[in-house]
Amino acid sequence: MLTVHELSKTYLGATKPAVHQISFSLEKGDTLALLGPSGCGKTTVLRLLAGLELPDAGEISFAGTRLDLLSVANRKIGFVFQDYALFPHLTVWENVAFGLSMQGVSSASLKERVDNWLVRLRIADLAERYPNDISGGQQQRVAVARAMAPEPQLLLLDEPFSNLDAQLREDLQQQLRALLKGSGQTSIFVTHDQQEAFYLADQMLIMNEGLCVVAGVADDLYSQP
Ligand code: ADP
Ligand code: ADP
Repeated sequence: MLTVHELSKTYLGATKPAVHQISFSLEKGDTLALLGPSGCGKTTVLRLLAGLELPDAGEISFAGTRLDLLSVANRKIGFVFQDYALFPHLTVWENVAFGLSMQGVSSASLKERVDNWLVRLRIADLAERYPNDISGGQQQRVAVARAMAPEPQLLLLDEPFSNLDAQLREDLQQQLRALLKGSGQTSIFVTHDQQEAFYLADQMLIMNEGLCVVAGVADDLYSQP
């Protein structure tokens, strides 16, 4: 369903590729965890999928379409950025509503769905606040709600829970897992947390210096000695 074929990217002025000939494929509804040391190219893989960077080589197909030939807007991908990238001039509620309102959802349905997502991510009390008036952990949850609310077929999450305390992280991991299992959405998330990867992912891809070093089904990797 999602096929990434020998994707490569060297940033302008860099001496080494950030991503070199990365390939993987996911079935509809699969969750892939991207792991590896800082600087190994994980964020670049997500940015290439989202169209925020252009690859030097390689192909990306999703549901029978060449994703890499589409503009960012036409890829219809949900993305949680590492720095959240919320709209500063919009309230929390408006941030979460943004993608849905672009889809032309009726205003009654829009309100119900946005309110629902705010409750799920436990940010309902922040609805009228602005991003720079709430904590980092709260911003992170707004970013997750904003990405998920339009229910994109492909969801990219860059360390979505890194800025939360342990209890909240565990709660939201459970919720995300249930949501992803139920929705048929295909998702890729970057994490430094192996436990999180095993808990959420069907497949794992471990990178080092732009290369794929290990890839496989999470259960198989886990059962290896
Ligand atoms: P990770 O997400 O695994 O930490 P990144 O994909 O952010 O890794 O970075 C991979 C490599 O590309 C690193 O060496 C990083 O310094 C470099 N890099 C990332 N973004 C840029 C950029 N915009 N311009 C130049 N080099 C970059
Ligand atoms: P989180 O659990 O979301 O990471 P923190 O532990 O950072 O939140 O903050 C605890 C509480 O302090 C939050 O519920 C929030 O109401 C408040 N808070 C933290 N930072 C800010 C801020 N920059 N502006 C307003 N309120 C804040």
